[in-house]
Amino acid sequence: MSDYILSFDQGTTSSRAIIFSASGGICGVGQHEFPQIFPQPGWVEHNPADIWQSTLQAARDAIENAGISAADIRVAGITNQRETTLIWDRNSGEPVHNAIVWQDRRTASFCQQLKQQHDGIEELISERTGLLLDPYFSATKVAWLLDGVEGVRARAENGELLFGTVDTYLLWHLTGGEVYATDATNASRTMLFNIHQQCWDEELLRLLNIPAAMLPEVKDSAADFGSIRADLLGHAIPIGGVAGDQQAALIGQACFEPGMAKSTYGTGCFVVMNTGAEAVRSNHRLLTTVAYRLGGEVTYAVEGSIFMAGATIQWIRDGLQLIRDASESESLAHQTGYENPVYMVPAFTGLGAPYWDPEARGAILGLSRDTGIKEIVTAGLQAVCYQTRDLLEAMREDGIRPENLRADGGMVANQWLVQFLADILGIPIACPKVTETTALGAAFLAGLQVGIYSSLAEVADLWQDDKSYQPAVDDDARARLYKGWRDAVERVRSAG
Ligand code: ADP
Repeated sequence: MSDYILSFDQGTTSSRAIIFSASGGICGVGQHEFPQIFPQPGWVEHNPADIWQSTLQAARDAIENAGISAADIRVAGITNQRETTLIWDRNSGEPVHNAIVWQDRRTASFCQQLKQQHDGIEELISERTGLLLDPYFSATKVAWLLDGVEGVRARAENGELLFGTVDTYLLWHLTGGEVYATDATNASRTMLFNIHQQCWDEELLRLLNIPAAMLPEVKDSAADFGSIRADLLGHAIPIGGVAGDQQAALIGQACFEPGMAKSTYGTGCFVVMNTGAEAVRSNHRLLTTVAYRLGGEVTYAVEGSIFMAGATIQWIRDGLQLIRDASESESLAHQTGYENPVYMVPAFTGLGAPYWDPEARGAILGLSRDTGIKEIVTAGLQAVCYQTRDLLEAMREDGIRPENLRADGGMVANQWLVQFLADILGIPIACPKVTETTALGAAFLAGLQVGIYSSLAEVADLWQDDKSYQPAVDDDARARLYKGWRDAVERVRSAG
């Protein structure tokens, strides 16, 4: 048997599977997109069968593309879209409803109601779970399924139904219903998990009226998660690692020391910083979450996100039609340079951290007669970097100081952008050789479990940077550019 690792990466729009060598090299990839279901404005669902079938097919393709057989795979890991919520029958496996996706806002009014009915519930949730009372997380989605779908509550109270995030659902199917479990990172996104005591929180379960019997066992991120049934891929493969996607990216970027942070630039952007054994609470509505749990020891992280990162460039391409391809933004930015008088504030759905102004709307400021396409496109790229600085400023005010940043995601193909990021943050940025950091993180966890790697230090040694970017502008220029952004943001904030 060889030391290949199979990594499942079940995302929001597609399911992927990657075969890694023990040294973290990519040997084969499979990918299948699946439909997004939008039953009403603000509602987003996935068909559970699509999630499962696309995952299985991606794994079969990855094995074939790698030119290996399932018997060559030593262990498998799972990483997944977080918070997305499923409930299914423990005997038949039949889901009671489509999966309710993390983006789904159907429980917004329920969240408001909880705030009004239970004094101090926001504080309680923040203290126990590290999260905010928001429809984004699984808890209110579970409550909606229990009371919004006929018969579900009675069946749940009868012990017939199981709740799971996507990792749990995949584990259950991959093991033929043998394993009903999740890992601490995924549990920490449900808004039901006490991240300090590492258990489901009875008080929150009571407040949300969720039966404890329908919750999975919470394991370490590297643990014995059973085996993939032999008939599915042709050979039984042990499952040794599970983590939610952003935590997996932190692991794939080998950010194992407190102060190390990663930033993933895709459609949105997620900055996650390792804070070690200490769960740091933010005063700026950043999330406190489990980075990973190994050997029963919890490492915590602080997480902040930007709604519109690559999505800003998509809008410039598809909405404004100023460019035909996202990559054109790089040469236009080179022509414009840093001293761009134009600022774009892409507050299409409000402003996130540290402003938290859902009513704010976007603007392009500083226009003059000689403003052209290149200035507007450049302002879009710069906006992504300024927003990252906003997040890091919020972290700094909470006493958290990333010393450097490891960046990944589709946008880091743009070298101008990453250099501007280093300049505006004033810290070095490194981009990794293996850019599939999410899948790699799950592979690392699985490899740790079966002894392919003996320690995190050994994993950290495998991480290689492709290119590093040093801050190259002086402090005055950095401060001047950033002040221009803060002024622009002030002008789009809502009166409230
Ligand atoms: P996701 O996983 O969220 O679908 P990806 O990591 O694949 O996203 O990144 C794609 C995003 O990156 C798109 O929003 C696209 O606009 C942006 N993007 C891709 N290449 C570039 C580039 N060279 N310059 C700027 N943005 C880019």
